[in-house]
Amino acid sequence: MSSLQDIAVILRTYRIGEADKIVVLFTKDHGKMRAVAKGSRKTTSKLGARLEPLGLVNVILWQGRNLATITGVDVIDNFAEVRHNLDKIMMATTMLEIIDKSTLDNQENDDLFQLLTKALATLDKNFSPGILGAFCFRTLMIEGLTPQIDNCCSCNTTEDLTAFNVTVGGVLCKNCQSGQLISQQALDTLKLIFSGQLAKALHMCSHVPELRNEIESLGINTLEHHLGQKLKSHLNLTTWV
Ligand SMILES: [Zn+2]
Repeated sequence: MSSLQDIAVILRTYRIGEADKIVVLFTKDHGKMRAVAKGSRKTTSKLGARLEPLGLVNVILWQGRNLATITGVDVIDNFAEVRHNLDKIMMATTMLEIIDKSTLDNQENDDLFQLLTKALATLDKNFSPGILGAFCFRTLMIEGLTPQIDNCCSCNTTEDLTAFNVTVGGVLCKNCQSGQLISQQALDTLKLIFSGQLAKALHMCSHVPELRNEIESLGINTLEHHLGQKLKSHLNLTTWV
């Protein structure tokens, strides 16, 4: 048994027992971890107030034989601007769900941690409509699942690329097309995302409203295909936003 300290984003919490909750943390150095926060559901609990989903926290954990216990927590950033905007909340909760569903417990993934914390900070400071779509594709890249977008997945041509099909793993030309149609602008935006030119990609999405929806739906569909399940946060909130 030992004590450990780490920085973490709180992905979700759920109730256990009379007054406790389990906190699912995505930590910088130890990957995804589950830990119990004892007494945290009591209204007087200082610990509980600091352990809300979306918070970026510094945690001290006591690693027991089975489950870790949270013994200390300091909030680094609670992304207040995100919490005050329904569209931002939808994007942030979808990001948290993506991380939760794409990771296994206790497997460090610093690239994914950096991606999540930077995306949340950007979302907090600005309104960046394209950020969820970009986040989906950057997650796929980190996981080694980058779709093929430079040439047709069927005949290899680089001309007239008009469709995107998750089951074949990328784009298709006019002659081979199946799946969903993709605009030239979306294709250009994906190229910027994959080459690390995120600021330019987000700039394009800010100026062309329909581009945000296109990139976001392509990204969500591709992730859902690889995860083998639907993302609940995206489904639930987009139906009434
Ligand atoms: Zn083709």
